[in-house]
Amino acid sequence: MTFTHRHLLGIEHLRPEEIVTVLDLAEEYVDLNRAAQKHSDALAGLTQINMFFENSTRTQASFELAGKRLGADVMNMAMQASSITKGETLIDTAMTLNAMHPDLLVVRHPHSGAVDLLAQKVNCAVLNAGDGRHEHPTQALLDALTIRRAKGRLHRLNIAICGDIAHSRVARSNIILLGKMENRIRLIGPPTLMPAGIAEFGVEVYDDMAKGLEDVDVVMMLRLQRERMDGGFIPSEREYYHRFGLDADKLANAKPDAIVMHPGPMNRGVEIDGTLADDINRSVIQDQVEMGVAVRMAAMDLLARNLRSVQGAA
Ligand code: ASP
Repeated sequence: MTFTHRHLLGIEHLRPEEIVTVLDLAEEYVDLNRAAQKHSDALAGLTQINMFFENSTRTQASFELAGKRLGADVMNMAMQASSITKGETLIDTAMTLNAMHPDLLVVRHPHSGAVDLLAQKVNCAVLNAGDGRHEHPTQALLDALTIRRAKGRLHRLNIAICGDIAHSRVARSNIILLGKMENRIRLIGPPTLMPAGIAEFGVEVYDDMAKGLEDVDVVMMLRLQRERMDGGFIPSEREYYHRFGLDADKLANAKPDAIVMHPGPMNRGVEIDGTLADDINRSVIQDQVEMGVAVRMAAMDLLARNLRSVQGAA
């Protein structure tokens, strides 16, 4: 099996063949999730703890469902409401967790690097469910699976990632993954929302949607991450929508069969036209949600196999 990691912290640590291993296994879980009987025992006897230090609806639900479908005992810890506000450090949290003996720990944290730090201190497998502006590996994997199923391949595609790149861990993980799989990546957005040094990632940068979208196969829209902005990055939402919001007119520059993606939650009328987002002939936003559960099942299954082989060898 080509996946030997103890944790899933970021796409930056994965080789292309490991990405393919996750996606291939996820395909099997797509079938299971569509069946009447949705249960497997891949994680039977294991404990999964979801620790979200930042708000999340869909990602937390997706991980919870994934764990339950694989037979794990799943527990959600609402960290915002608890110890973090009482001043507990991340290291203390790790010590507490170790005493509870979880096998899989799913963590979302507002600070880039916090999940890596936690992974060094706990005895279980850690999955990064989004850390600051750094990485969101399962999002990039679910996006990759969605693209591969819609386009029949995951290489040599023209892919546009549009909007608030600077604050987006989704963009960062996708740029790394799609680059590793040898796609041509264009970033489109206002210069104020482009991260410094982005050219080093081997991408093309545009501040004009019509030009940037020319002949692309995939249009990936991003949410304006207001919670990470401290000041005026855009003149107004109305103006932003006018220049960078995806509507049918702008999409007409892309290939006729280009697909539209959005990681959610989306702001209709700010980064994307609501009718376009709901157009099942162009938008694969619902497929992304479906692929999310399957990819998270695959990732946790692979980590659990590695965990068991280490325990077996000890
Ligand atoms: N849900 C994604 C994330 O956690 C995207 C977003 O919030 O805009 O990064």
